[in-house]
Amino acid sequence: MREGYKSVLEFLEADLEIEGDQEHLYNQLAAGTKDAKVRESFQHLARAAKGHKAAIERIIRDIESDDHDVGFYCLMCGWDINFGKMPSVGNEERCPLCCQKFALVDVDNDYAIKSLPQ
Ligand SMILES: [Zn+2]
Repeated sequence: MREGYKSVLEFLEADLEIEGDQEHLYNQLAAGTKDAKVRESFQHLARAAKGHKAAIERIIRDIESDDHDVGFYCLMCGWDINFGKMPSVGNEERCPLCCQKFALVDVDNDYAIKSLPQ
């Protein structure tokens, strides 16, 4: 499900395209050089871009299959607040460190949090 992740998925999909372009470019540059050390460097960069692509694809797959925790940093102290997998908008969680209470909200198809009165 993509609900709540509009901007995150747009960013990840754009980054996926960039990594794919980089992998292609580095492979072309590796194939176009006669210098073994330069070719090895481009091949290393191509493998890195391929690895980044695989990691980004895994995150997108986890989000789309609801196998991804919805988490935020506490607006008061910066600690992690975890709403778990497949939360509902309106769910409430307390910061485990400072105990501030937050509600999960939706802002234009992006999850966000709103501080609640104590
Ligand atoms: Zn906190």
